[in-house]
Amino acid sequence: MIAKLILDKKREGHALGSAEIREFVEGFTRGDIPDYQMSAFAMAVCCRGMTPRETADLTDAMMRSGKCLSWSVPTADKHSTGGVGDKLSLIVQPLAAACGVAVPSLTGRGLGLTGGTADKMETIPGYSCSQTLERFQEIATSTGVSMAVQTDEICPADKKLYALRDVTGTVASIPLITASILSKKLAEGAHTLVFDVKCGKGAFMKTREEAKALATSLVEGARAAGRNAAALVTDMDAPLGFAVGNANEVAEALAILGGSVDGLEDVASLCVELAARMVSLEKGIPLDEARAMCRGKLADGSALARFEAMVAAHGGDLDRFRALLAKPTFKFRVQAMKSGYIAAIDAERVAKVAFALGAGRAKAGDAIDPLAGVTLAVKRGDRVQVGAPLATLETVKGPDSLERLAADLLNAFSVEPSRPELSPLVLEEVG
Ligand code: URA
Repeated sequence: MIAKLILDKKREGHALGSAEIREFVEGFTRGDIPDYQMSAFAMAVCCRGMTPRETADLTDAMMRSGKCLSWSVPTADKHSTGGVGDKLSLIVQPLAAACGVAVPSLTGRGLGLTGGTADKMETIPGYSCSQTLERFQEIATSTGVSMAVQTDEICPADKKLYALRDVTGTVASIPLITASILSKKLAEGAHTLVFDVKCGKGAFMKTREEAKALATSLVEGARAAGRNAAALVTDMDAPLGFAVGNANEVAEALAILGGSVDGLEDVASLCVELAARMVSLEKGIPLDEARAMCRGKLADGSALARFEAMVAAHGGDLDRFRALLAKPTFKFRVQAMKSGYIAAIDAERVAKVAFALGAGRAKAGDAIDPLAGVTLAVKRGDRVQVGAPLATLETVKGPDSLERLAADLLNAFSVEPSRPELSPLVLEEVG
């Protein structure tokens, strides 16, 4: 294989052969193909695209660049493209486990505005997401669910390629995003994959068209690899639930798992929709039956029991977590400047404030403040009077910037005289 000829071919818009893609990725993983040629490849794919078959080949080659796990029990996982206040994995994964489907979930630490699932889980004192693959498999098999971070043995080609894409303007490409997300999920080995593709102001995919295109590509790619797959395109214009941060999101997830869903009915019902698809596809039962099973396991405490078992297996201590939540912090409340209905809550603005408070990290390795974040007091459609609380900002860092950030946060709320029309969280289903 001559790398330059492959680059010429993609630059001219031709489809690459399976062997060409495989050898290119293998060469890059070994270090024979230098970063500048891989960057040129990524740019050519960005400009020329890939056919579904090429995307499947790229995904497969990246998956095979590292270890691939296999499971002898029914397994499923849910992947979210990430959103503001997105604590759904903390509920969905144990919920599917409670329905008899093991959930081995390799997840990420956050970079940018929102914390990752791993950061949220590690606000539970003692909980470690860093496990060997052997221990990860043991926990997922014995408790039914494990949330851990991906090790260097999983998809090393993706790690190297993503670092290049990040600095060469080549992140925004559906085939590259698909191969990146999917190669990691396929290597994890779950037989069923359900994707929650977020769409809107607080999401990676800003438009419905982009979100649908990514959802379709992920489902096609997963099926081409022999897995069951479905995707929901879901709204991410406003934060999910009330809590945006890390520890406050875990507390909210625990509340939902414990049956306290007051004001969180939409979040709880999206969790049921996602978990039900995992269970229905993996067990081969009708979706309605899986939905009813999920509702039952949420209501009877089985999903919470799975979460608690997972936390214990990862070394976490929920009593110490509750003590952490009670620690004194600096708080500042934002109040409504006029009366009316909450028409919109700009997820991106809320995320920026939570980030500035210390809930996210600007570069890999930065520390996050587990208690920093924003807790909303209202949701879209609520009626408020002047002076009513809209949200609370919280940080342990100190009060210096709180007032300025509170002013930024106030701009996230649109208050209108008439009741807004509310659309459901699930915008459409793909597959
Ligand atoms: N998340 C990933 O893992 N990869 C991408 O390319 C984009 C988002």
